[in-house]
Amino acid sequence: MSDAARCALSGVPCPPSAVSNLASASLSPIAPPASLPTMPPMNDAEMPTWTPGGGLRFRVLKTSGRARRGRFVTKHGVVETPAFMPVGTQAAVKCVTPEQVAATGAQVVLANTYHLSLADRTQMVERHGGLHALMHWKSTILTDSGGFQVFSLPDRQISEEGVRFRFVDDGVAAMLSPETSMDVQRRLGADIVMAFDECVEHTAAREYVAASVERTFRWLQRCVAVPLAEHQHLFGIIQGGMDLELRAHATAQLVSLDLPGYAIGGVSVGEGHEAMVRIVRHTAPLLPADKVRYLMGVGLPEDLVASVEQGMDIHDCVIPTRYAREGTVFTWDGKQRIQDKKFRKDRYPIDTACACYTCATGYSRSYLRHLTFAGETLGETLMTIHNLHFYQDLMRAMREAIEADRFSAWVLEFRTRYFSRRSRGQGDEE
Ligand SMILES: [Zn+2]
Repeated sequence: MSDAARCALSGVPCPPSAVSNLASASLSPIAPPASLPTMPPMNDAEMPTWTPGGGLRFRVLKTSGRARRGRFVTKHGVVETPAFMPVGTQAAVKCVTPEQVAATGAQVVLANTYHLSLADRTQMVERHGGLHALMHWKSTILTDSGGFQVFSLPDRQISEEGVRFRFVDDGVAAMLSPETSMDVQRRLGADIVMAFDECVEHTAAREYVAASVERTFRWLQRCVAVPLAEHQHLFGIIQGGMDLELRAHATAQLVSLDLPGYAIGGVSVGEGHEAMVRIVRHTAPLLPADKVRYLMGVGLPEDLVASVEQGMDIHDCVIPTRYAREGTVFTWDGKQRIQDKKFRKDRYPIDTACACYTCATGYSRSYLRHLTFAGETLGETLMTIHNLHFYQDLMRAMREAIEADRFSAWVLEFRTRYFSRRSRGQGDEE
């Protein structure tokens, strides 16, 4: 099938897949910057409203198979789902300004409690009136509990009380517990706060995982008992390792607490795509239909598509930003390494149909390649903008496919095109 025919079928923007081969041909004019596709019109019946003390309102507007098109609203704005949250680890999305992040269409970003829990950093955030003002991010913010980071430290000590550890930066000893995590997150002021949990390794023994699930639930009950600010909403995290029975048990425990949202944690820890999908496929249907579902730390575009296919709503991952800084860019035709020799004389943008600042302005692949080799951080910024924009485009395309009730057909078209270079024997490292 020709690219044009595949594009016509897919309904997604159609970047010329073989643009790089045209580098020596005469250049076609670059299209002017296109405005971002508009969200579907809202009416009162579809638009949940946030009111003090009213909880997190979430509505599923449409389903297609298991996939859900939804919408929720926090004090700081609407979030259209399925959604992707760029990661701002230390209260900043690396290499880009908040305005540049917002221009990609992102409606929510994530910040890490671990990095902001040092006393002087938490106090700095408080002096600014919270993370929103500090970061210049007006929309919704989610903070993780810090658990994932401290459990990955070498010298942490786990007890019923919490986790003792030393900060990597300065060696300062600290204790993170359900109470301290909630206290820090309350002071940071994010809209969605995550429960303090233990993320076990995917190779952990079943006995250990079973005991950890019980401890995580006791910790969750302690988190629930800590008062948060009126605009904050606490999500629980389902653990259970690779064991489906433990996952089901943990889910039942969490759902009994009637929280505003539930996350699947402990995936994307080296278990692989198939194992991740197996856990999500098993767990998502056990969650209440009227609550937000969050798959943590996932992932590559194909992982996000598989997650939405199983009925998950929100996602976060460092991949689009980290890969951009390493010179890997995402397109509808798969990912590409900007360092490749084939881009040496290429005057086209990463994707001629992409409406992001980098592509629409016409920064060429050969220039981005040059910036990368020259160690100029402008290249990282330009590619971060493109990757974040691609991820938002991907979520937007999935929302539209669900609205049109053709999600399974869209998934097939996405996979056919996204992996077409690989199937032609053209790997990412060519
Ligand atoms: Zn772009």
